[in-house]
Amino acid sequence: MKKTVWFITGSQHLYGEEALKQVAINSRVIAEYINQHMEGLCDIIFKGVVSTPNEITEVCREVNADDNCIGVITWMHTFSPAKMWINGLTKLNKPQLHLNTQYNKALPWDKIDMDFMNLNQSAHGDLEYGFINARLRLPRKVVVGHWQDEEVINEIKAWVRVASSIYASKNTKVARFGDNMRYVAVTEGDKVEAEIKLGWSVNGYGVGDLVEYVKRVDEKEIDKLMEEYKEKYTINTDNIASVRYQARLEIAIEKFLTDGGFNAFTTTFEDLHGLEQLPGLAAQRLMEKGYGFGAEGDWKLSALTYVLKSMGKGLPGGTAFMENYTYHLEKDNESVLGAHMLEICPTLAQGEVKIEVHPLSIGGKADPARFVFNGLTGPGLMVTLVDMGDRFRMIVNKVELLPIPQAMPKLPVARVLWKPLPNLKDATAAWIYAGGAHHSVLTTQLNVEDLRLFAKYLDIEFVLIDENLDLAKFEQELMINDVIWKLKGIK
Ligand code: MN
Repeated sequence: MKKTVWFITGSQHLYGEEALKQVAINSRVIAEYINQHMEGLCDIIFKGVVSTPNEITEVCREVNADDNCIGVITWMHTFSPAKMWINGLTKLNKPQLHLNTQYNKALPWDKIDMDFMNLNQSAHGDLEYGFINARLRLPRKVVVGHWQDEEVINEIKAWVRVASSIYASKNTKVARFGDNMRYVAVTEGDKVEAEIKLGWSVNGYGVGDLVEYVKRVDEKEIDKLMEEYKEKYTINTDNIASVRYQARLEIAIEKFLTDGGFNAFTTTFEDLHGLEQLPGLAAQRLMEKGYGFGAEGDWKLSALTYVLKSMGKGLPGGTAFMENYTYHLEKDNESVLGAHMLEICPTLAQGEVKIEVHPLSIGGKADPARFVFNGLTGPGLMVTLVDMGDRFRMIVNKVELLPIPQAMPKLPVARVLWKPLPNLKDATAAWIYAGGAHHSVLTTQLNVEDLRLFAKYLDIEFVLIDENLDLAKFEQELMINDVIWKLKGIK
């Protein structure tokens, strides 16, 4: 079912019923115009003009209660004394976009009178409303400009994507097959805090529970999936039995996830008891379908992959679980080669996607089938999430994805090459100072502001490494953030 965003207009009774009627007519026109320009992202529904404290509180309660509603757009056509909004806004628990617009584009110079002024006063009505949001310290996106302006529409569309991802985040369920890779620090974290702050429900299962699903997969289901593989990809191996086993894993894992209402999962090569191979192709296929995945038990990155895929749904480009693997340190031509043992999502692929079978040097299992491909080129973002003990920190680095300059015939995995901005040396130093993980989500679908807004709504720390990086200031920002988040912890 398509999600909805409610459009709510604030006013008051000081101007008479005629004015309120006009406010409602204009609001409906604006809401419908925006709705027509959402390109199917959501339905914008005009929910009426609210002009008393009770009406405001009631509509905010309705927003919260309607699971299909992912957020609200608020606009003050006239003045709406903002103490009326305190009760409602303190209850509102969905993302808000405060639209500071005006029905008329140009001033009607020759006709303007005081009636017109009183009817069209968002220039100060929205400031009164803005104050109470600021006073209440509410996270919101403010968009300013005429409602038919393309930039305004694009900002609303970007916000709807973020609101959708907040909904996805609050409904994220991660199944962990096995625990964390032993002794690894950065993939650990506070699951209770993640559920409180981000809505991520993370629970573990013995890999034996999955093995039962794997045993029950019918050969005919595998035949059918193999046909799909043959159609979509190049099967570059004679070891069809290995590919068939990954097809079996794909079917089994997806059933397990569907049965439990999960949208993300983790595996670990240290706990594969009863499985013949580490899920490679299976994990890649499930990511391609939109599931989150984290290797070595990395539930934070699995959930983040799912949430960011939700944010970018339908946009060109890809979003994938990624790992910083190895460097190219040629002076002034430095880059990072990203890959994983197996599990990179083919939404990032450029050109041919091959299915191959090769030995895996760790884990002690049979040779797993996997996708092998080169990555996309152009601008992208590396996004990771670490647990600092008193808060989650999101770290974003702008990167330039590069063509693979030479063939790598002996490398049996999907690979992506990138240059971090401003340069490998400073960007990587900043990433390390911030505690950035070796696992990340690499996306070419999203931009920095989407992620900043996501972090703002969910009250997690956000730091950016981009072309404007000043390493000394960046380190200072981390110190200042430490103080801010310590103070936030004191209630
Ligand atoms: Mn890894």
